Amino acid sequence: MQDKYIFLDIDGVLVKEDRPEEEIDLDADDLQTLKFDTQCANRFETIVRKYKNVKIVISSSWREIFTLNTIKSKFSDDIAARVVGATPTKSYDVDKYYRYQEVLDYLRQHGLEENPWVAIDDIAEHFPPSAPVIVTDPFEGFDEITALELEYFCLTTGKF
Ligand SMILES: [Mg+2]
Repeated sequence: MQDKYIFLDIDGVLVKEDRPEEEIDLDADDLQTLKFDTQCANRFETIVRKYKNVKIVISSSWREIFTLNTIKSKFSDDIAARVVGATPTKSYDVDKYYRYQEVLDYLRQHGLEENPWVAIDDIAEHFPPSAPVIVTDPFEGFDEITALELEYFCLTTGKF
């Protein structure tokens, strides 16, 4: 079975935004207190667990602050084992859709251009309208609806 790839954002997906009035600056000191929203993470992991050909690539800005192993440690062990990498960071200015460009770079670098993929992100504008993106509400995170969308991607080869 062909591997499928989930390009996963974290803030607004597995970590809900609940204090919009506060500017949250992530740094290493916050590491101990940062954890995924339990419900959102459980929902996500339950689906991934069911589909053994699904792999996860971190596309969140967390990858610029934390090591991949640190990010993986926030997942359950069996799901952490499915996190195969993180997207490269664009070293030059991209006009727009920079997260999409980073996804394409990852696919190219790993020879995965033909593999099905989907991104999960709370900011639709990071991607062109035609891109396969499951867009979360940052205040709800990965909820029942987006879980259905991911399940659909895992079962078929595309997005709703
Ligand atoms: Mg986000």
